[in-house]
Amino acid sequence: MSSSNKLKIIIVGSGLAVLAVARILRDHHQATVYERGDEAVATGGQGIILASNGVKILRTIGYDSTRAGAVPILGIRTYDKEGNVLEDADMDLEARFGEECLAQKRSDFRDELLRLATAPSAELDIEGDPAEMVFSTQVVDLEPEEGVVTLSDGSTAAADVVIVADGVHSRLRNRILGSNGYTAKKVGLTCYRVAISVEDAKRALDGVPLPHWWEPSTCKNRSSLLMSNDCSFRVVTCYPIRYHTYFNLSIIKLQGVEVLMLLGPTYHHKKAQEVQMNKMRKRNQEDQRRKDVESYCCIYGARHRLHSQHLHLQYVPALSREAS
Ligand SMILES: Cc1cc2nc3c(=O)[nH]c(=O)nc-3n(C[C@H](O)[C@H](O)[C@H](O)COP(=O)(O)OP(=O)(O)OC[C@H]3O[C@@H](n4cnc5c(N)ncnc54)[C@H](O)[C@@H]3O)c2cc1C
Repeated sequence: MSSSNKLKIIIVGSGLAVLAVARILRDHHQATVYERGDEAVATGGQGIILASNGVKILRTIGYDSTRAGAVPILGIRTYDKEGNVLEDADMDLEARFGEECLAQKRSDFRDELLRLATAPSAELDIEGDPAEMVFSTQVVDLEPEEGVVTLSDGSTAAADVVIVADGVHSRLRNRILGSNGYTAKKVGLTCYRVAISVEDAKRALDGVPLPHWWEPSTCKNRSSLLMSNDCSFRVVTCYPIRYHTYFNLSIIKLQGVEVLMLLGPTYHHKKAQEVQMNKMRKRNQEDQRRKDVESYCCIYGARHRLHSQHLHLQYVPALSREAS
C-alpha cells in the first residue's frame, strides 16, 4: 500500500484482541495504541485456553506458541473429590481442526502478541511499521464523528480511524453507540483464578507429592475438572501452562455456591455441554437446585460477565488434599 493510502489509526486499550489487531494493521497502516496501564498490564485471569480456530488465525500473523510457553491440551479428565478418575477423554483437535488447542499463561500470551505488534519489521520478516504503544495514558473521551480522543493529560489526538477496545466494562463504547448501547450486567458470578508455580506448590506441600491431575508426568496434557458431585456444583478446573512449570486453577462462585468452571473448548461444544448438564441434572435430587442448573448452563454463554479475582497460594494444599 502506498504511503498516501496509509491510515492513521488510534486504538484504545492494549488487551489481547487489540494486540492481535495492531499486528494485522501494521502491515499497511500506522497504529497508535493508548493503554491506561503500564507496560506490565495483563488483565483478567491467569491462564487462558486458546481454541484451535484462534490458534489457526494467529499462526497466519507469525504467532510463536513456543515463545508463549503454550501447552497443548490433548484431553479432558473429570475427577470426583476423592481424586478418582471418572472420565478421561482424548480430544485430538489438531486432527479434527488442523490446529492444537493451547493453554497459556495469560501474561506470556500477551507478551507474544505485544512482540508481534511492536517488534521491528525485519525481525518478523514483514513490511510496514511497528505499532506505537503509549502506556500509562487513559483515553478519557472520544468524539466519534471527528475521530478525536482526549487523553488523561488533557491533550487530544486525531486519527482517520479510532478503534475502541477498552474491555467488557468499556466506558467509551456508548460514546459511539449512544446510551442504549451494550452494557455488561453482573449476574452474581465470581471467577477466582490463580496461576501457581509448580516449584512454589511443592514448597507449600512440604513433601506431599503433587496430585495426579497436576503432576506433569500423569496429567497427560489434560484439562481436569475436580467435581464435588454433591449438589453444590463445586468444581475445580485446572490445566498446565508455561511449559508445565505453572498451573492454572479456576473457581466460580454461583449464588453463594462455589462452582469452578471449565474454560476449555470441549464444553463449548453444545453436545458435550448437554451430556454434562444431563449428568448433573440426574445427580441433582433437590428441586430447588434446578433453577441453579439452568443458571449454570448460562455460564458458558456469559464468560465475559465474570468478575475475576486472584486467589492466594494458601488454597492449594487444601485442594490437593481433597483431590489426592
Ligand atoms: C476470568 C476470565 C477467563 C477467560 N478465559 C478465557 C479463555 O480461556 N479463552 C478465551 O479465549 N477467552 C477467555 N476469556 C475472555 C478473554 O479474556 C477476552 O475475550 C479478551 O481479553 C478480550 O480482549 P480485549 O482486548 O477486548 O479486552 P481486555 O483484554 O479486557 O483489554 C482491555 C484493555 O483496555 C485497557 N483500557 C480500558 N479502558 C481504557 C481507557 N479508557 N484508555 C486506555 N486503556 C483502557 C485496559 O487496561 C485493558 O488493558 C476470559 C475472560 C475472563 C474474565
